[in-house]
Amino acid sequence: MIQAVADAILALPKPALCLDFDGVLVEIAPRPEAITVADDLPGRLNALARRLKGCVAIITGRTHADLSRYLDLTAFPVASSHGAQFSAAGSVEVQSLLDAHDLDTLRPDVAQTVEAHPGVYVEDKGTAIVVHTRPNPDAHDTILAHLTQLVAPRADVHIGSGKGIVELRLASENKGTAIKRLVELPGWEGAQPVMIGDDTTDNDGMAVAKELGGFGVQIGDGPDGTGLSHATLRLDTVQQTHKMLQLLTG
Ligand SMILES: [Mg+2]
Repeated sequence: MIQAVADAILALPKPALCLDFDGVLVEIAPRPEAITVADDLPGRLNALARRLKGCVAIITGRTHADLSRYLDLTAFPVASSHGAQFSAAGSVEVQSLLDAHDLDTLRPDVAQTVEAHPGVYVEDKGTAIVVHTRPNPDAHDTILAHLTQLVAPRADVHIGSGKGIVELRLASENKGTAIKRLVELPGWEGAQPVMIGDDTTDNDGMAVAKELGGFGVQIGDGPDGTGLSHATLRLDTVQQTHKMLQLLTG
């Protein structure tokens, strides 16, 4: 399957790789800051960018500042905070596409909801509020139900349930809109995006990748062990993903 994924990517006329980070390039850790980045990852990404004529990007739920602790983000375009932040290759400038203040009225209520559940904690990303339920999985469904009710009146806020997280974020940007922005970049014209991801939010990217002639690759089990509806191909592990990227660079 690893070879089949690499072959399918290289069979596209102009493949563009859009890579999620956690659960794809690094194993998911109990806490976001506890990840281990493989020593050869930066070199591999550079080699990929050379092989694919610059059409490689990271699309992550992490903020730009957070991801920059692990990778040199000037080497390729990066859509961070699920597309709410964007930076072009070679640029240190990060565009903010959404206003974090739009979530201000929800913050106290989210904090209050979480207080009742030991171990559960909030990560405030500005344009998204992430509730980490991994330390207390039994609380996940209760928190999801509570927060779903809380944001029901807010058409501008999207609520998502992922692997050990419940996330509220401003809805007008997502991994799909990020891909639409990427294919507008110089050098990306007419590219077929391949979205490689492991979780619910990647599905938006996979849908747009398909629209543009590419496809989605799911890594591992989707949230709750279900498949992502827009994924066409699948690899089982982060390790397999690394092997596949290695095949691409040859
Ligand atoms: Mg992920």
